[in-house]
Amino acid sequence: MSIPIKKIYVDGSVIEEPLTERVLENAPGIPEEIIDVEAFQERVADQLTLSQGKRVLFITGQKGDLVKPCPGTLAPYLCCRYTVINQIIQCPMDCTYCVLQEYLDSPVMILHTDMDDVFEDIDGLLASQPGRFFRFGTGELSDSLVLDHVTELTRDYARFFSEKRNALIEFKTKTNRVETLLAVSPKNIVVSWSVNPQPIIDTDEFFSARLEERLDAAGRCQDRGFLLGFHFDPILYTPDWEALYHPLIQQLFSRVDGSRIAWVSLGSLRYPPRLKEIVLKRFPRSRLFYEEMIRGMDGKMRYPKPMRVEMYRKIFGWLMEKAPDLFVYFCMESPDVWDRVMGTHPASNAELDFWFARSLHRRFPELELDSPNRASYTAS
Ligand code: SF4
Repeated sequence: MSIPIKKIYVDGSVIEEPLTERVLENAPGIPEEIIDVEAFQERVADQLTLSQGKRVLFITGQKGDLVKPCPGTLAPYLCCRYTVINQIIQCPMDCTYCVLQEYLDSPVMILHTDMDDVFEDIDGLLASQPGRFFRFGTGELSDSLVLDHVTELTRDYARFFSEKRNALIEFKTKTNRVETLLAVSPKNIVVSWSVNPQPIIDTDEFFSARLEERLDAAGRCQDRGFLLGFHFDPILYTPDWEALYHPLIQQLFSRVDGSRIAWVSLGSLRYPPRLKEIVLKRFPRSRLFYEEMIRGMDGKMRYPKPMRVEMYRKIFGWLMEKAPDLFVYFCMESPDVWDRVMGTHPASNAELDFWFARSLHRRFPELELDSPNRASYTAS
């Protein structure tokens, strides 16, 4: 995969930061310009379309607030109490369904240089709830690995997390950019891939790696000792969805060992209503909205429940055939859907968080997690 960055702007106040120097060194030949934040906003960011902004990187500084709880969604849908690290914002790939099109104000990619602040915030959070196991991730407002060949941030995070207890970091991606990662310690790291059948990647996940490239990268990470994750999210309905998703699962398990998969998530297409107008303008040939959608209790559009349940049941069944011990969870689904597919549901977001810790503690002793105690989850 090749995604060109056309220009790098650097906020003058961070020009001497080590991360800035590293990025500029790793991006020879890309035009650079030093600029202040206001001028960048007016002269650059405000003038670019989203497609243009996705080819521009702005390196800047920001104090605090890069580490926060995943915004998730509203009850009754269940979320997993993940913690996101938003050091990079915006993504150079272009998925038709991407909610960042509606969610982010700025079209350009922004890299925050304040590593020390990020690490301080993480340490503060860990100290505030001893006994709770935390999952962090950098793949919420961008892709965790798509810029890693220039930022090499995975190296900094790997060093930091390898010394932590009761915490791990997930790098979530649709790329095969694992070169930096393959050289670091796999301790306390889960590398995860969002997957879809290749025909859907072709029509809806522009500039991302092909499925076989993603699975090959996953296999290489597993061979190196990393735990893996997979996200079937968003699952898209097409008339032939079964003929697409079943072979995908076969292909996945032909390349990776299910006993080394930390978790698998399932989530079907969902989006805030305002996204539709943006997608129809940017991707006029998209078939994303051809199916019937209902408005869920959190205000987001979703496939009707019987459709979601049917797809989840089949996909969950195919996963269980391959790896009966797999930890599978739903992202933003209702307790009723959990019950109809898995026969049970967590009583709360905190309970789901506890289920993660319990599964990881039981299946991966090398993580050296404290024995999870339900009280430390339900109380916090
Ligand atoms: S890879 Fe993720 S963040 Fe990037 S465009 Fe696709 S959905 Fe959005």
